[in-house]
Amino acid sequence: MSKYNINTICVQGGYEPKNGEPRVLPIVQSTTFKYESSQQMGDLFDLKESGYFYSRLANPTNDAVARKICQLEGGVAAILTSSGQAANFYAILNIAGAGDHVIASSAIYGGTYNLIANTMKNMGIESTFVDPDISAEELATKFKPNTKLVFGETIANPALRILDIEKFAKAAHEHGVPLIVDNTFPTPIFCRPFEWGVDIVTHSTSKYMNGTANALGGVVVDSGNFDWTKYKDKYKGLTTPDETYHGIVYTESFGKGAYITKMTTNLMRDLGAIPSPQNSFYLGVGLETLHLRMPRHFENALAIAKHLEKHPKISWVSFSGLENDSQHELAKKYLPNGSCGVISFGIAGGREAAVKFMDSLELIAIVTHVADARTCVLHPASTTHRQMNDDELRAAGVSPDLIRMSVGIEDAGDLIADIDQALEK
Ligand SMILES: *Cc1c(COP(=O)(O)O)cnc(C)c1O
Repeated sequence: MSKYNINTICVQGGYEPKNGEPRVLPIVQSTTFKYESSQQMGDLFDLKESGYFYSRLANPTNDAVARKICQLEGGVAAILTSSGQAANFYAILNIAGAGDHVIASSAIYGGTYNLIANTMKNMGIESTFVDPDISAEELATKFKPNTKLVFGETIANPALRILDIEKFAKAAHEHGVPLIVDNTFPTPIFCRPFEWGVDIVTHSTSKYMNGTANALGGVVVDSGNFDWTKYKDKYKGLTTPDETYHGIVYTESFGKGAYITKMTTNLMRDLGAIPSPQNSFYLGVGLETLHLRMPRHFENALAIAKHLEKHPKISWVSFSGLENDSQHELAKKYLPNGSCGVISFGIAGGREAAVKFMDSLELIAIVTHVADARTCVLHPASTTHRQMNDDELRAAGVSPDLIRMSVGIEDAGDLIADIDQALEK
């Protein structure tokens, strides 16, 4: 498949049926797989042969969809998880443990921030958060001997700040650690982080990849470019015998597939956050139109952002597609064909006006989700952050008037008409 364009991979990648097999990827809704002899089963357990035996470790439907995403990102191996949260957790835990340290951009999804700042801290993994605008010199001072990785988001949800990927990749590599990037918002249609030096990519597939908001999911993709054997002592889990798995040395037995194989044999075996094959099927169907949907999300968002920019009742608009946006220069470099469909803006009149506006919308719905086919809005000050007063909100980087709109793929004229009638009220 890799010789084909990304548009073709969206439609046909990952699953290539042989003679007489179903044209559409089958849903293998089975926990277990049957074998003729215990010898065959034993060889599978020993990883001497590849094959399916239990869906927690591998399932044909999950594998085919993981393969499609792997091809879209241009990686060497990928694994699906039950949610985006699980994907980020596994991506970090696979190479960091108690006593280790990670560096993360402060402009990341709130769930991932909590995961790193609290849950992983309780597990003994320390973290340092840095502003994405940090200078290369200052970033270099944040590394410690026990730093195992750097983490960021291509386009931060919901701050919409764009990561200067090359700056972070260079710093990570100079300090002998990989850069992991959550690429949920642009998807590989608008940005392929491996081309900019990222080593491992994660996604919440619950968003644009699925595209219809019918199934949660996540994925971890490895570029295969980070040479773990060069830092043998730092990544012992990959470079020394795994006594819990017959003394296998992942880098020796699996080469570029080492990182994802270890994630399967250790983290999936012990923690088990696999997606159901049914959910992976929905994801696979969604991916077949990703290359058609992403440009439409971006076009609609740009049309709405431009309209809002000129509207007297709107005090500010944030969208990297706008030429005077603070993120526009970075967008031109990393996202030349578009970014995503999520914009944020403020309404003159603050918190109360924002609530009135939201309640007056007819077509656009109030939903705690982003990045699916239907346009939706969220007002953090009256929902996710409602316990905070205006000063606390500003300190958290959320202004009281901020409305986040995830622009769908409906008709842009209908969306603008709905926004205008609500602003009128
Ligand atoms: C939603 C989201 C997540 C979490 O994904 P879930 O599938 O909801 O667990 C992680 N990162 C980003 C950027 C997200 O938007």
